[in-house]
Formats: sequence, structure tokens, C-alpha cells
Amino acid sequence: SAARKLPADETPLDLLKRVYGYDAFRGLQDAVIGDVMAGKDVLAVLPTGGGKSLCYQIPSILRPGVGLVVSPLIALMADQVDALKALGVRAERLDSSMSYEEKSAALEAAARGEMDMLYVSPEALANGMGQRVSGLNVSLIAIDEAHCVSQWGHDFRPDYRALGRLKQLFPGVPRIAVTATADERTRDDILTQLDLTAPETHVASFDRPNLTLGAEPKTGGKSDRVVSLVKAHKGESGIVYAATRDGTEKLAEALEKAGVPALAYHAGLDSELRAERQRRFLLEDGLTMCATVAFGMGVDKPDVRFVIHADPPKTLEAYWQEVGRAGRDGKPAEGYALYGPADLRRSISWTMESDASEEVRRVQLNKTRQLFAFFNGNDCRRGAVRRYFGEAKVEPCGVCDNCQREPGTGYDATKFAQMAVSAVIRCGQRIGRGRLIIHLTGQARDGFDEDLSQLSTYGIGTDLSKQGWNAVFDELLFSGLLAESGEVMRPVIIVPDAEEAKALFRGEREVWLREDPNQRKSKR
Ligand code: ADP
Ligand code: ZN
Repeated sequence: SAARKLPADETPLDLLKRVYGYDAFRGLQDAVIGDVMAGKDVLAVLPTGGGKSLCYQIPSILRPGVGLVVSPLIALMADQVDALKALGVRAERLDSSMSYEEKSAALEAAARGEMDMLYVSPEALANGMGQRVSGLNVSLIAIDEAHCVSQWGHDFRPDYRALGRLKQLFPGVPRIAVTATADERTRDDILTQLDLTAPETHVASFDRPNLTLGAEPKTGGKSDRVVSLVKAHKGESGIVYAATRDGTEKLAEALEKAGVPALAYHAGLDSELRAERQRRFLLEDGLTMCATVAFGMGVDKPDVRFVIHADPPKTLEAYWQEVGRAGRDGKPAEGYALYGPADLRRSISWTMESDASEEVRRVQLNKTRQLFAFFNGNDCRRGAVRRYFGEAKVEPCGVCDNCQREPGTGYDATKFAQMAVSAVIRCGQRIGRGRLIIHLTGQARDGFDEDLSQLSTYGIGTDLSKQGWNAVFDELLFSGLLAESGEVMRPVIIVPDAEEAKALFRGEREVWLREDPNQRKSKR
């Protein structure tokens, strides 16, 4: 392995041109690299495809010593190391999949000063390797996917917790944390957990001007809808995310049957098959990958033209990261999501049943509600996401489904919403949607629900059909005026926030549906 041969006085820009062959820095890269070169601790939040890796790779090469890069996925580390080697950069990795001899060889090369970058997994750092690595002359420490350190983020990894010790292990060594996805609370938590010293925080705009977004409630035949959405992208590559392994298989089958080349991908497939399918997706044109969230991290395919959520993701952060895999080449791409009340219910019950602390569950629950309010809301899609991530002064995108909708369309269902919420309260917040609709439409049968028929809300909603009421209840659940609780299969409807309900009764809060609920055909 050759000794270091850096041209004298090479600047970050020179190195960008010489090693990577690019002409100019993009977005915040220059500012981030400047701070790291100056030895500061940095948190950089850049969108997927924003070029986060160069932010630590370039300073690692330029600064004396070896740059340590902590990364959560072994496969991802291997790809990055291979890519760097192909560019002539002296990079190696250190993870649990390697033999003792391989690890020692890597460490010895680093100790001899013959290495620019060493990728390490967080668990390798935690168990013993940390001590050996701490003897090295380390130029900087990069923490990739830094949101994994925070339980407020959407992908908390307990292994990342140990990274707080890096400050003691490597006193005075600059650290740079990078992520594509962190709301304000998560950003604060990253700074705290990693104990960054006087950190500079760089947050790029979350705008992705080439993405056209849309969402709609699920109706009966989910796979039919997905097939027609995918068919609109004939010959293009895309990803369809589904919540379950079974779901990915069924969608891939339905697409194949409709003449669209498609593959399924999930953690239940053996690793060779997964690797082969991922390779095919990267190399072939016009393939649709029907996948669980197991697919995506580190999949750098620039010409993904669409990302369809056949089932909603867990949070807006996850949504943005997943949708962000479309159009990384900057050319037009589409993100479209399907969501339903059963998804909302499932998300909530997962959270309730998790063994996380009360506080964590409360935050997760809130994130779930924000996600569904976003999908079901009427605001500009890109604008809503950007505001969620803390951007102020956001212009509407003009191209999403909500921006494209004619002004003045939609149906003012405030009156029906008031009836529904009153009925929920009158009936004691202890019955489900079906019985509430029977109650509102005054259809109690003998021997069933007669007690409830004595209440003042009985039969006040005969103007609306059962389907119409279902549309109203869906809207109220998505917008958080009502919530489902209790057993997943037989939930009862409650009023989660009495203040919101009061605002509705006072007429300070309106409820709008996309269509006239009287016209709603029987879809469910
Ligand atoms: P991220 O990790 O932020 O998703 P990457 O670091 O993988 O993004 O970069 C995405 C792609 O953009 C890569 O192919 C990378 O080589 C390329 N890239 C990064 N910086 C630049 C730049 N300044 N000019 C041109 N291409 C760049
Ligand atoms: Zn818009």
C-alpha cells in the first residue's frame, strides 16, 4: 500500500475535481467541509442524494490521520469502501462479519498511517475494537445516519447509544454527524446524545423541486390501484412500498400479471436472493421493486422515477426518506401514497403495545397522527413536509395533487362532524363506528342499542347514508378530532382532545371532505 501522495496545498475543491471528477460543490457541502477542515464539530442535515458522504470523505483524505466513519449497515459500508478504492482512496472497514485476522490487518495498516478512511460498525466500536481504534491517529470521526442515535428519530438503533463515548475515547478529534432526516427535536437530541462540542449545525432545505406528490385514501382493491399507478410509468423504474412481506409478494404478482416487470423484496428472503434482486433493480431498466422498508437504505439508483406507498410509512421522516429515493438525478419523479383508517389504527396499536417509555410512546403517537393528517390534509404536499422539518416561508409547489385541485372544490362537512362528535360523547366514548352510524341514522333494532336510542343524538343524522357517514368518520379520525382505541379488531371511538372538539362545536374549526359524502358510492 502506497504512502500518501497528496499534491501540496491541495484544497477541498482541488480534491473534489481530482479524485471525484466533479466541478463544483453542491448545496451546503462547501460550508460543511470548511467547518470540518477547521476542526469543528458539525451536524449536517442534507437531503437524500445531497452528497453527504463527500462532506466527511474529503476532510478525511485531506486531514492528517485516518478518518473513522461509523455507519449502521455492513452492506452499505462495503459498497462505500469499494467505491472509494476504485477512486484510489485508501479505505478499509471493520465489522463483525470479518475474521480476526482481517480486522487486525486493517488496524495495522491504519496504525502505520497508510489509510485515509476506516469504516466501522457501531457494534464493533462498542465491543473491544473501540480500545484498539482509540490508539490510532484519528483525523475526524463521521457518524453517518446520525438520526439512529435518537429515540425521537424514526430508526433508533440501540448500538448507536454507545457513540456518546467517542468524545472521551478521542478527545479533541472533530466529529461530524450527518443525516437526511431529522426534525428539530431529533436534531437537538443528536447534539445531546453525541455530546458535540460547540457544534455548527447545517440544515439544507428539504425541498425536492422535481418531486410531484399525491395521496389518496385506500378503496377496495388496493392492488388494482397500485397496478394502475405503476402502469402510468410504463418502462420506468420504481419502488412500491408495502407494510408486510406478504403484501410485497402479492403486489409483485399482480404487477407481473398486468405485464409490468416486478420483483418482491423483504427481510424474509434469503440474503443471496435479496442481493440478486437488488442488483437487477440497479442494472435493469423498467423494473418495479415491491418492497418492505428492508429495501432502500444505500440503494443509490439515480433514475428511480416513482415511489408508491401501497401502505403508509410510520412517520413523515420515513415517508420523506422513502419518497426521496425517487428522482435523485434531478429529473421529474412521482411519489404517491395510499392510506386508510385501518393503517392508522394499526400504527396506533403498535405504539401502544410497544415497551418504550410513556414519553416515547406519546411522541410516536403524535407522529402517527401528524402523518395521517398530512396524507389526508389539503395543504401543498411539499410545503407541508418542509414546514414539518422546521422550514419557514414555504411557497406552495404548484404541482402536487392538493395544489392542482380546483379552489372551492370540496365539501363543507362541519355540520356532520359536529353531529358525529356529539354522538361519540353522548354514547360515552365506548362504542365503535358501526354502532355510532346505526345510532346517528336512527336504525336501532329491537333488543339492540335501545338504551342508546334514548339519547338526544339518536337519529339526528338521517340525511347521510352509511357510506357518507363512513367518509365523515374517516376524515375525523385522520384529522385527529376522533380516535380509535381499545382492541385493534373492535375499536371504540373516543374524543382524544376535548379542546379540539369544543373548537368544532363553536364553529372555530371546519371539517372539509374532498367529495360530497351524499354522493359517496359503496366502496368498502
Ligand atoms: P447522500 O449520502 O447524501 O444520499 P451521496 O453522498 O451518496 O448522497 O451522493 C449522491 C450522489 O451525488 C453520489 O453519486 C455522489 O457521487 C454525487 N455527488 C456528491 N457530491 C457531488 C457534487 N458536488 N457534484 C456532483 N455529484 C456529486
Ligand atoms: Zn403543492
